[in-house]
Amino acid sequence: MKAADFDYQRPSNLEAALDLLDDESGDVQVLAGGQSLMPMMNFRLAQPELLVDLNGLEDLQFIREADGHIQIGSMTRYCELENSPLIQQHVPLFSKALPHIAHVAIRNRGTIGGSTALADPAAEMPALLIALDAIIVARSRHGERSIKAAEFFLGLYETALEMGELIASISIPISEAGCECGFYELARRHGDYAMAGVAITVQTTNPISEARVVFFAVSDRATRTEAVENQLNGVSTLAGEEMKNAMEEIGKLDFHGDLNADIATKQHLAKVVFKRAIAEIFS
Ligand SMILES: Cc1cc2nc3c(=O)[nH]c(=O)nc-3n(C[C@H](O)[C@H](O)[C@H](O)COP(=O)(O)OP(=O)(O)OC[C@H]3O[C@@H](n4cnc5c(N)ncnc54)[C@H](O)[C@@H]3O)c2cc1C
Repeated sequence: MKAADFDYQRPSNLEAALDLLDDESGDVQVLAGGQSLMPMMNFRLAQPELLVDLNGLEDLQFIREADGHIQIGSMTRYCELENSPLIQQHVPLFSKALPHIAHVAIRNRGTIGGSTALADPAAEMPALLIALDAIIVARSRHGERSIKAAEFFLGLYETALEMGELIASISIPISEAGCECGFYELARRHGDYAMAGVAITVQTTNPISEARVVFFAVSDRATRTEAVENQLNGVSTLAGEEMKNAMEEIGKLDFHGDLNADIATKQHLAKVVFKRAIAEIFS
């Protein structure tokens, strides 16, 4: 199929883009990497009247260190994140996970802002941002607000973004010494969407503390589970009774089946990816 008719604007600065987005009719959508939006338009699952192309906006393309954070412009592409020395040094969880997102051709175009705004429950990025305690900076004609990743993803393709807002940047706190991360996903083929995955950050100083465990591709959104984290915090390693308890708590997550796997399969795979990510951290 072909996309329905739409108007197209390519603003040259952020203020002009925000002016175009400030439209009460709600029929305006921004175009980032187009890796999800273009197929959705071609299938007529999305039919914006006006497409605002962000690709000319240099003020949304940066990776920098400031105030104890790594700040990333929303139009930064996956491939730029993969190749960034700042990311490799300070956000190792990204370096582990990014190669699992689709294929090189898609990572050459897809952006961190696009994946975050889309809130696909099977996507890696929402889980990574929650695990890293990231802050999403939204901009509109009327100002700026900062939203914690844990409060940003509200459900299936649903976020806390309001009409007229776009994601301007994403800010990731630089982790303290002793912070380790683990990532594991299972997909039918490398590059396919995951059937189940998990991102973990944890202070491995004895005893373990500040664990953040976030599953993706198992529910209607990336899901942080404090009940599982509680099994990690306060022990020196996760084995025996604590691992058994963690498995039980994982089984209680709000699993949703999808095209890739039914609920029973996801329940099983979630336990597998958790064990493998933990083994990676503590090996
Ligand atoms: C074959 C294939 C395989 C894929 N596999 C995976 C995978 O394994 N894992 C994975 O995570 N993804 C996968 N993807 C999706 C890919 O990661 C997309 O790039 C990503 O989901 C969207 O990013 P984008 O920059 O292309 O956004 P676009 O497609 O341009 O936009 C997506 C949505 O976000 C909105 N948007 C974009 N930028 C902003 C912004 N700054 N502020 C507010 N709203 C915004 C758009 O209006 C649109 O609604 C795959 C895609 C394809 C085609």
